[in-house]
Amino acid sequence: MSQTFEPVLTAGIGKVALEAIEGYEAQGGYRALRRAVRELSPEQVHKEVSDSGLRGRGGAGFPTGRKWSFLPKDGRPRYLICNADESEPGTFKDRLLLERNPHLVIEGIMLAGYAIGAAKAFIYLRGEFRQAYEVLSRALAEARQRGYVGSRVLGSDFSLEIVVHRGAGAYICGEETGLLNSLEGRRGEPRLKPPFPAVVGLYGMPTVVNNVETLACIPSIVDRGARWFASIGTPTSPGPKIFSVSGRVRRPGNYELPLGVPLRTLLFDVAGGLEPGRRVKAVQPGGGSSAVLTEAQLDVPLDYESIAKAGSMLGSGAVIVLDDRDCIVQAARILAEFYAHESCGQCTPCREGLHWAARILARIEAGRGRPGDIEVLQSLPGNIAGRTICPLSDAGVGFLQSSLKYFMDEYRAHVTLGRCVREAVVA
Ligand code: NAD
Ligand code: SF4
Repeated sequence: MSQTFEPVLTAGIGKVALEAIEGYEAQGGYRALRRAVRELSPEQVHKEVSDSGLRGRGGAGFPTGRKWSFLPKDGRPRYLICNADESEPGTFKDRLLLERNPHLVIEGIMLAGYAIGAAKAFIYLRGEFRQAYEVLSRALAEARQRGYVGSRVLGSDFSLEIVVHRGAGAYICGEETGLLNSLEGRRGEPRLKPPFPAVVGLYGMPTVVNNVETLACIPSIVDRGARWFASIGTPTSPGPKIFSVSGRVRRPGNYELPLGVPLRTLLFDVAGGLEPGRRVKAVQPGGGSSAVLTEAQLDVPLDYESIAKAGSMLGSGAVIVLDDRDCIVQAARILAEFYAHESCGQCTPCREGLHWAARILARIEAGRGRPGDIEVLQSLPGNIAGRTICPLSDAGVGFLQSSLKYFMDEYRAHVTLGRCVREAVVA
């Protein structure tokens, strides 16, 4: 870990009341927006973001500047959506930003909207985030009053209104096309891609959907420059990242670090390590959807390429830790139930396959596993993943498939002995 790293996105949180506009402004807030609308063209802001190498922080890591460049230049209205429907198991970083640094998100939206020429911006907020809704609503009112949001921003020709739309607690509405349908008042069912939202999005118009943390990176890129941003992290995964660490660590929480920090550093130097005498059993580096890594892989750098090479994905940077007390079959069952419950039901492999995975795992966990159950479980991922409209189905079998690879003995023992073989059971 770089010793000199200074937090960017979480700077001041816990020290300054950033929820109030005075606190945010005192820390240099809205300086980037002022500079952009007075001195920079939208193309210059876009170029700065492209040159910074910023990659989407929602999970896919897609280059932000490139995503913006897909918008057709045909004069139709364009929309910007801030995806604040954070629901990936283990992920709680956007919530931190929304509740504790809302003006950073608002400034990021205004800058992105300026760069892409948006007609209107929406914040699609997870329904359960009541506090975030209240904090955001107050912050938006302050920003409007100060001339940062609304018509003729800071006396310029640029106008952009931001609307907060609250979801109703469905995981699938965080998938960008499910989100679009939900925002349009339809069922939150994902659409086939292509066409991508950049071409056919909200109300059929070109639309950019960016994650909260992605947008929160933009003020500092405009303020301090693409080169400064690119100097943090790794050459292909630049910038700061908030990692949400949960599970069997002594200090779970959100930690902002440069991308590329070793997993071991995050877990042991930052998040307090494990309880004395405990060993890492498995780690999901990218939320509930990601494949597990084992103790032997703790030195992997937390960047998009290294985690992919290790067989998993960085996703939203939600690091979930299991130790030797945890039952792999139980963990797989809990995740399978979650994804089966959240399936929108459009695709048979997802709707039926995840449901059956959860049922089989539940009976194995309960000591009622049957001969052949493990073979059925092994056959499921290949028949589910990649055969559906959206990636929820892949997400639903990520843990199952990887844990079968690393912990087959534990699965088999469950079936043959009819019980768990872990050392001790701790609720
Ligand atoms: P994706 O790779 O399909 O797309 C990434 C982004 O790039 C999208 O916005 C897409 O529209 C755009 N894009 C890609 N190719 C394009 C092209 N040719 N033209 C125009 N635009 C293009 O991934 P996704 O389905 O958006 O996201 C999957 C990720 O979401 C997973 O990795 C998972 O970690 C993450 N996820 C996060 C949460 C959360 O709460 N943060 C919840 C669920 C899933
Ligand atoms: Fe719905 Fe699952 Fe198909 Fe996604 S993969 S569209 S969640 S049924």
